Amino acid sequence: MAQLEKEAKVILTPKGVRWFETGHPWVFASDIAHGDLENSGVASVLDSHGHFLAKALFSKKSKIALRILTYKKEEISKNWWQARIQRAIAYRKNIAVVSNATRLINSEADFLPSLIVDQYNRYLSVQFLSAGLEVFRDTILEILKEELQPLGIVEKNDVSVRELEGLPRVTQVIDGEVPKEIVIQEGELKFVVRLREGQKTGAFLDQRNNRLLAGQFAKGDALDVFSYEGWFACHMARKSKRVLCVEGSQESASRIHENAKLNGVSDRVEMVVANAFDWFSQASKKENFDCINLDPPAFVKNIRTQEAGWRGYKEIHVRSFPMLKKREGILITSSCSHAMKREDFLEMLQEAALDTRSSLQILKQSGGDFDHPTLLTLPESDYLKCFFCRVF
Ligand code: SAH
Repeated sequence: MAQLEKEAKVILTPKGVRWFETGHPWVFASDIAHGDLENSGVASVLDSHGHFLAKALFSKKSKIALRILTYKKEEISKNWWQARIQRAIAYRKNIAVVSNATRLINSEADFLPSLIVDQYNRYLSVQFLSAGLEVFRDTILEILKEELQPLGIVEKNDVSVRELEGLPRVTQVIDGEVPKEIVIQEGELKFVVRLREGQKTGAFLDQRNNRLLAGQFAKGDALDVFSYEGWFACHMARKSKRVLCVEGSQESASRIHENAKLNGVSDRVEMVVANAFDWFSQASKKENFDCINLDPPAFVKNIRTQEAGWRGYKEIHVRSFPMLKKREGILITSSCSHAMKREDFLEMLQEAALDTRSSLQILKQSGGDFDHPTLLTLPESDYLKCFFCRVF
């Protein structure tokens, strides 16, 4: 109980209470009326009458001041964290994810706000994305070791949101030993992952189900734009005559052949290192593909980049449609911009199709794989959209 009494309290403004009641798990600093908050950590959240609403992680410097942990008056002890972590891990044991690289904890969507834990074979890659969470870092690491006995843990805290939280950006091994490269299995394929250097926690695990499906849809001459280390391309190569990868980063592109070789498809995977927009504008009008995959970085990062981002998405589609074979051409297209909603993306697709006089059949609408749940009341968590389409 002593610890409970020491916990800070924050009182929300009436507007903050209305926002809180929508179920969104964040409260912004501007919605806090006052609070006795010296440091980041846990705070009890109250309305202006002093009624208890929730307990939340508090970040002193962030605009996202509060991240709701629980609506109960309970102690945020090691046992509390352990129960939540166990629940997230237990869920993954019962889902059909065909890989030994999986997301074990998907922050808010697993009711563990701002915590990401990905397991790559026997190694963990973790991200602590708020100052409030950072306070519990040692407790969380201890629990992860008890529950999973990893051979090594990397903290992949190199992301810019850490700066908004007043936290340093750092990537380092914090437990055990982590080899420079590890090989993971995804479906029937294998991929090399560098936990320290790779993007995100080492790789884009969220696209796994879509890569596996792309492996079924691909055919003939295929194009994979924004390839990263060629994971889509390798899956597509199994069903295609040839896959041409277009990737802007020399470093990432150099891994494409390595992965293609590992999977016995290097004779079918070709590569161009280029800015995709330049490549599209210079590509021969005669280029014709049976299947195109577009998986760009988030072009719409926030409200300010909405227009430019929209133009970027539209351009790559306007360029792609005429390159698809007129009969039965397959387009697989993704957006990981959380600030571009599913319906906006579909509207953009429609504009691009109209501009190029293409009729589009949507075969499947998809998102992230089962280990990447989203939270109904946090639209930001539903960032990944993927559409499997056919020009008709
Ligand atoms: N499809 C990949 C993930 C792609 S991430 C997978 O499933 O693993 C987006 C990739 O686009 C990154 O590798 C990045 O280097 C590349 N990229 C970003 N901007 C680019 C541009 N303008 N032209 C070409 N590639 C670009």
